[in-house]
Amino acid sequence: MSHPLEPIIALQKKDRSLIKIMREIRDIPRRQSDIESQLDGSKKKLEMAMESKKHTEALLKDVELEIEACKEKVNKYKTQQMEAKTNDQYRAFVKEIGLVEAEIKALEEKEIRLMEDLEQGINIIASCEERLNSEKVEIADELEELNERCEELKEQAKRLKADRMRAASSCDRNLLQKYTRILNNKSDYAVVIVEPGGHCGGCHMKLPPQVINDARNPTKIVACNFCGRIVYNPIYNEV
Ligand SMILES: [Zn+2]
Repeated sequence: MSHPLEPIIALQKKDRSLIKIMREIRDIPRRQSDIESQLDGSKKKLEMAMESKKHTEALLKDVELEIEACKEKVNKYKTQQMEAKTNDQYRAFVKEIGLVEAEIKALEEKEIRLMEDLEQGINIIASCEERLNSEKVEIADELEELNERCEELKEQAKRLKADRMRAASSCDRNLLQKYTRILNNKSDYAVVIVEPGGHCGGCHMKLPPQVINDARNPTKIVACNFCGRIVYNPIYNEV
């Protein structure tokens, strides 16, 4: 005779597949956000490059204003120089103008360096953007693959659910209830085999001889004393 647990074991096989599929579906959003986080490094670099450019632009603006102010000062001195009453006064202006012009020269050199920095900064931003965009393209494929995988899994789950419903209808009702209760509780297996050596296939504890014997008997349904899973001894046919 066949063992009454056999339809339940067949059902459990389908449920195991279903659980695996549901877990994979559940994990997909996390996998997608892990992939998206690969962009974090490049996003950060771009942000830093843009900050640095802003800083250089501000420095450049300051230097330009300083140059402007110095030039105005030179013009003012030149006007005053024209109106100098004595040679000493005139020479004093020549000296002042010389000093300010030297300052302008130093500021203009600084301006050139800052303009070079700015140009370099613009190039760095462009390469950061290029890198980020190519990374976005790379991950777009991976994200799309996961979307497709998710759709595929949902289809599989739909088919399996219908399939397991048919399988459940051929199970003994009381056994099915017991099975469902244990499965919900353990979330892996409700029916386990007696492992060689007489251990429970679920919790691996050593089962009492009576349970091992009863697990072979098709007229009895026995549970592990330790974890409560139904134990089944597949060699019952040989006895
Ligand atoms: Zn057990």
